[in-house]
Amino acid sequence: ENLVNQIAAGEVVERPASVVKEAVENSLDAGARSIRVTLEQGGKRLIRIEDDGKGIERDELALALASHATSKIVDLDDLEAVATLGFRGEALASIASVARLDLSSRTESVPHAWSVEARHGVISEPAPAAGAVGTRLDVRDLFYNVPARRKFLRADRTEFNHIDDLLRRLALGNGHVGFELQHDGRVVRALPPANDEHGMNRRLAAVCGDDFLAHAMPIEAAAGGMTLSGWVAEPRYNRAQADRQFFFVNGRMIRDRVVAHAVRQAFRDVLYHGRHPGFVLFFALPPDLVDVNVHPQKHEVRFRNQREAHNFIYSSLHRALADTGV
Ligand code: ADP
Ligand code: MG
Repeated sequence: ENLVNQIAAGEVVERPASVVKEAVENSLDAGARSIRVTLEQGGKRLIRIEDDGKGIERDELALALASHATSKIVDLDDLEAVATLGFRGEALASIASVARLDLSSRTESVPHAWSVEARHGVISEPAPAAGAVGTRLDVRDLFYNVPARRKFLRADRTEFNHIDDLLRRLALGNGHVGFELQHDGRVVRALPPANDEHGMNRRLAAVCGDDFLAHAMPIEAAAGGMTLSGWVAEPRYNRAQADRQFFFVNGRMIRDRVVAHAVRQAFRDVLYHGRHPGFVLFFALPPDLVDVNVHPQKHEVRFRNQREAHNFIYSSLHRALADTGV
């Protein structure tokens, strides 16, 4: 069983950033409004995720660490319309098979938290613990028992940068949630929740830079149940482009060929002549029109109707760019 989980971990857990991704997505699924990520040595020694979400019941703690246990899919039909980010029920089990894991959580209905620890695939009995409503996950010594994989982890700085990039994306896609990132005892990012336009502008500036905000124009389009919103910034103000290109589908940052093509084509056709503008775009469509169950790390999506999605993104961007005549 632990071996099976280790194999699954090979797909889900590649480096500290993959752990942070799974854990933060769980926090978001749990309705957290505030998420703190604490790292030591680029996450290689410690990854701690604390949230103020709804928590996990005492009797569900061990289950949360068991493989293919998910509270998010009740029957198979739900796969058709996955509204939550996680749904495979294998992330925590996978992580527990390749690290030392402590999980501590408290729901609103109980006076204190309960915690379990997973060591070598064995999960302890829940023990009472201190803690506010919410969940804390500690992942220590990633790949301590898989030397071949531990060897492939990079310098602390590199692993940290992967996590910081990830958090920037998550912070853009979840403006209403506050994020804090600590590394080796220092607060590296503090992003208060953005509850209005001003707050969202502040977050955009914090993640993409003040100059991006100053030269970005907002975009807003809707048709056929789909919406596209966000910002596009003129290329001449953008230095590091790859750093400022974000596309979200239903709140999830993705890399997709259909999307990339539509965006590139629109920019090329209107004005930018091969230069790459920065953009932060949110594409929303009914969940049954997009399949997110394509890739274990969930970067990819599959649209029910690719052409329709492509045309909508392309024409919305094209029109917005042409209208403003940047
Ligand atoms: P999945 O997210 O695919 O369901 P995971 O292995 O990531 O699978 O998590 C297993 C279960 O543990 C989740 O379905 C959820 O019930 C619970 N869980 C994990 N993290 C949290 C959290 N931060 N807050 C509340 N529940 C959580
Ligand atoms: Mg999950």
